[in-house]
Amino acid sequence: MPKLGTVVLLALAAWLLPYTVGGYAIHVVDIALVFALLAIGMGLAMGIAGQINLAQIAFFGVSAYATAILTTHNGFGFWPAAALALVASALIGLLVGIPALRMQSHYLGIVTLGLALGFINWTTNAEIAGGAEGISAIPVPPMFGVDLSSEYLYYYLEVIVFALALAFGLFVVRTGLGRRMMAMRDDPLAAGAVGAEIPLLRMTAFMLSSLFGGLAGVLYAGLIRYIAPDTFNIANMFLLLAMVVIGGRQSLVGCVVGAVGLTLIREQLVDYPTYAQLGFGVVVVLMVVFAPTGLAGVPTRLKALLDRRLGRTSERAVLRSFEPYEAVAERETAGESRPMLEINEISKQFRGLKALKEVSLTVKRGEIRGIVGPNGSGKTTLFNVISGFYRPSGGRVLMEGNVVSGSRPYRLSRLGLARTFQNLRLFGELTVRDNLLVALDRSRTYAIWKYALWPIGIWRQERRLHRQADALLRRFGLAEFASAAPGSLPYGIQRRIEIARAMAGSPRLLLLDEPAAGLNGEEVRQLAEIVRSIRDSGVTVVLIEHNMGLVMSLCERVTVLAGGSIIAEGTPAEVVADHAVIEAYLGDSAMAEMPLPNPSEVSS
Ligand code: ADP
Ligand code: MG
Repeated sequence: MPKLGTVVLLALAAWLLPYTVGGYAIHVVDIALVFALLAIGMGLAMGIAGQINLAQIAFFGVSAYATAILTTHNGFGFWPAAALALVASALIGLLVGIPALRMQSHYLGIVTLGLALGFINWTTNAEIAGGAEGISAIPVPPMFGVDLSSEYLYYYLEVIVFALALAFGLFVVRTGLGRRMMAMRDDPLAAGAVGAEIPLLRMTAFMLSSLFGGLAGVLYAGLIRYIAPDTFNIANMFLLLAMVVIGGRQSLVGCVVGAVGLTLIREQLVDYPTYAQLGFGVVVVLMVVFAPTGLAGVPTRLKALLDRRLGRTSERAVLRSFEPYEAVAERETAGESRPMLEINEISKQFRGLKALKEVSLTVKRGEIRGIVGPNGSGKTTLFNVISGFYRPSGGRVLMEGNVVSGSRPYRLSRLGLARTFQNLRLFGELTVRDNLLVALDRSRTYAIWKYALWPIGIWRQERRLHRQADALLRRFGLAEFASAAPGSLPYGIQRRIEIARAMAGSPRLLLLDEPAAGLNGEEVRQLAEIVRSIRDSGVTVVLIEHNMGLVMSLCERVTVLAGGSIIAEGTPAEVVADHAVIEAYLGDSAMAEMPLPNPSEVSS
């Protein structure tokens, strides 16, 4: 959070600015603030939520045109028209968000650009939009007798709206909604697995983006009081893109700096528009290649560089030991409760390949079930089916007696399922604490109404979540890494963060996909202790593992998969003596290790 002193100084500077500049300069500043609002919206969609949005200029245009048409054609007052215009751009935002449900990256870029082009086409051709001449004579916004036709006084209106909008944007970014959007940006699969409603969240990002665009449109209409298609053309869309990329799309303040900076520079270069465009293009390309986080990312990069030069690394920090969970009493009557997980004849086909062939297995409540098998035998695919990433080609999955196959990952997460990934999937641009916070936050997407109407509720929830995160960090011995980027940490620590993140959702069923891969002997020993404590706290665990020592010491029962089918199931001792199992392992030349019936052997 910015220091109070900085905020007071900025406010003072903003207040005094009109006293120090001339009439034309204040006009440029007024325009810069409009672009700054647009850039914040674009930053929210592109930088925070990771959704390419080239339709921002259309959101801007929709609300400017709506204000113009409603005031000049339909006799609305300026403010009622403005309110409707905001609603219109939010609706258009939701509409543009629909393609984002199905497609990503450059496809989304093409679709949003297409929508922007469609809008530009409409403005130039529709009679109601005034064609190429546009619409003039938009009324001056009334304001308790303050004459807003003065660009000096209008500046104050803009500054206040801008400050509130920026504060709101920063509040979103630094609380649950923003964290979830960033998690979605970094890894949509993992975000879904910890309960983020991915499709809805994408639409929310576009709606937020369009709200800022709409606000900019209203202010622009009231400022210039004349609109024409020229303002909303593709050149300006790319100017906006340049502002966001140069300023730093992951930082709202960066977006503002980019917007204000480029508006001012553009004014200086107004006599050389071609060179200006070319120049912006070159700078954007250079930024994308050499400083993808934009100007806003420069301080962090400089600090990292300096740390490396001075040999300051974070490796001094050590992984603390794990504080066991409180054990719950033994299940009263184990036979009475329904099995935690039932897999009924699950098949999964990838084109020609049958990765799973009618696999059935039942995991009791409170069990630690081992799943072993050569590489490519379908273990991870089984997890992906259970956790909703893959739809099975046949069969059903039941959790506590309820059919869950076909549910989306976020629903399964809410039902009490959590998982880790064979190839770590932490949210790379979030701190370790934020990784846990994303999973701790169980609020539904529709609860975002609180951001508009009950921010204090959001704030209280944040304080509660942060307390929970601190407790979780301590429990998993990760307190010292709370503010670190996961990618900067050793592999063993990242593995532990993934388990902590999975446990953050208080699951009843935990799926661990090769949690010991890449760990050293001591780390494997600690892992065994963690898994046992998790089970003792009442969580059922299913564990895919190649490290047979670990499997033998942890699991009551082991299921062996080979070639997509179960070839054996039983106690660890039974399984390793099984002929079919020995054959399956000997047949797989990639598998160097043989299952050894020696529980004390715990190195990988
Ligand atoms: P394991 O985890 O046991 O090593 P996997 O479940 O990852 O094995 O893979 C089982 C088989 O399914 C492998 O042959 C793999 O190539 C194939 N497979 C896994 N995921 C996909 C996918 N998304 N598309 C096509 N084939 C896949
Ligand atoms: Mg696997």
